[in-house]
Amino acid sequence: MALKYIDEIELKDKKVIARFDFNVPLAKDGSGAITDTTRVDAALPTIKYILEHGASKLIMLSHLGRPKGERNMKFTLEPVAKYLAEVLEQDVILTESCVSADIKNHLQNPKVKLILLENCRFHKEEEGNDANFAKTLASYADIYCLDAFGTAHRKHASTYEIIRYFPNKAVGGFLLRKEVQALSQIVTNPAHPFAAILGGAKVADKIKVIEELSTKADALFIGGAMAYPFLKAQGKNVGKSLCSDEDVALAKKILALPQAGKITLPVDHVVSDSLEGAPEACPNTDIPEGKIGLDIGPKTVELYKSKLQSAKTILWNGPMGMFENKAFASGTFAIAKVLAESSAFTVIGGGDSVKAVKKSGVADKINHISTGGGASLEFIENAGALPGITALKFGLN
Ligand code: AMP
Repeated sequence: MALKYIDEIELKDKKVIARFDFNVPLAKDGSGAITDTTRVDAALPTIKYILEHGASKLIMLSHLGRPKGERNMKFTLEPVAKYLAEVLEQDVILTESCVSADIKNHLQNPKVKLILLENCRFHKEEEGNDANFAKTLASYADIYCLDAFGTAHRKHASTYEIIRYFPNKAVGGFLLRKEVQALSQIVTNPAHPFAAILGGAKVADKIKVIEELSTKADALFIGGAMAYPFLKAQGKNVGKSLCSDEDVALAKKILALPQAGKITLPVDHVVSDSLEGAPEACPNTDIPEGKIGLDIGPKTVELYKSKLQSAKTILWNGPMGMFENKAFASGTFAIAKVLAESSAFTVIGGGDSVKAVKKSGVADKINHISTGGGASLEFIENAGALPGITALKFGLN
């Protein structure tokens, strides 16, 4: 069965409930200012389409932060309601909660068009995928739209169980379509040579995706703290670098696979005595005793760059070093530049690599930057079968 999208269903006079990912970062000063509106902006095409195609109401659902099932106004969606009202130049009603009594009145009021339900994670039933909670949410509308790609890998009430109540009336939004199309190209039909670059801090979190990519991709480049367990597994010295025994064991397993020859590891590093210390060049693969590896070195950048020249598809997830500190950002920024200048189909798989590529100023030169970190990795691991997407395709019965 094919996945239906919002422009394939009649919206006239219908109430639409749509799940977005409005999980925006807020200023630390408690002012409620949104420091990066990307996630809300990414939802605007779907919101505008629904409003412009005759829907009688749009009821928006989202989570923000991790309130852990309790009402905590630190995580109110009020800043999002204000921002939406500003950019859409329309009133946005923020409800008391996503199951509060005021919702009924708003739904009956013909003047109300846009409703934002307060943070659905204020209720433990959301993450518990509770059937009654999902049923209540579903009762507000005739059509359900999933546009929260970043949470489509979660079996939660608002992304999964709710779909049960919309047989043939559950569709994807435009952001979901963009993500599915770009990531499907990686999963099903990547142009070869296909290279994957993996970095970040933990092998354990990405083990399945490394295994999957080691079969799918033609070459795998490892950087960031993820490189040290691999180097240690090969008998190299990693000094005081981040490197758990568990990750070394996993790295050993991967290096024993028949396709391990596709993996390239750093040949030099930028190291320091501490996380805040001065950067020092380490021109060898081995890291001296007492030093911490915090970035890939210039020889590694050149090696990866030259090997990536012929790639026709490049997937990148995870920074090449502790890029948040300028002293250890060079490797990550250099790789971002390689992708920006490449003629390959380039995809960045969410999370910290997105921050890094934005910081390096080349984001507009990347073909697809995923809005979902975990979701994009799970999409690749499971060949596109994320719970929310599968439920949209086949329904829940
Ligand atoms: P992940 O969530 O697994 O993609 O990890 C991202 C985090 O890994 C970022 O906060 C980086 O600062 C951190 N990171 C990357 N390389 C290193 C390194 N060599 N040492 C310590 N942290 C690192």
